[in-house]
Amino acid sequence: MKVSVGCTAPDGTLAPVTDEVRATASSRLRHVQQRLTPNRAAIVDVLAATTRPLTIPEVLEARADLAQSSVYRNLVVLEQAGVVHRIVTNDEFARFELAEDLVGHHHHLICSACGTIEDVPPSARLEQSLRQAVEQVAASTGFRIQAHRVDLMGLCRRCA
Ligand SMILES: [Zn+2]
Ligand SMILES: [Zn+2]
Repeated sequence: MKVSVGCTAPDGTLAPVTDEVRATASSRLRHVQQRLTPNRAAIVDVLAATTRPLTIPEVLEARADLAQSSVYRNLVVLEQAGVVHRIVTNDEFARFELAEDLVGHHHHLICSACGTIEDVPPSARLEQSLRQAVEQVAASTGFRIQAHRVDLMGLCRRCA
């Protein structure tokens, strides 16, 4: 189990409606002097409609009207704006999802054979024991911990 600590504070576990996600995306883009163009809104909608991080080919599958180069460029901008989070595993495809503070705190199951990533809701028990472990780390290192990420590596149902 890999536990990494990020610096985005999750602020809810409810799946937001797309309008709110779009509004937040739009204001974050404005912060980096960018706009929520129709193509960027389309990508945000695709990512908001799924329960797992998607590769660029998967985004293109969902929206065949988008060009691959445009999806790639727009994902870079959305990532810079803090709207999208990129997950890199050891296969050739990066995967993209909405930033955790937009969609709620969750963990990942990463298949080391096919590279698929599934989102899983955190169990109350795991969050509780992580909180205790994290408090000890904070106390012994003086590091102010704001969030955590848990990626569980293994084999998915199809590959096991
Ligand atoms: Zn995720
Ligand atoms: Zn967690």
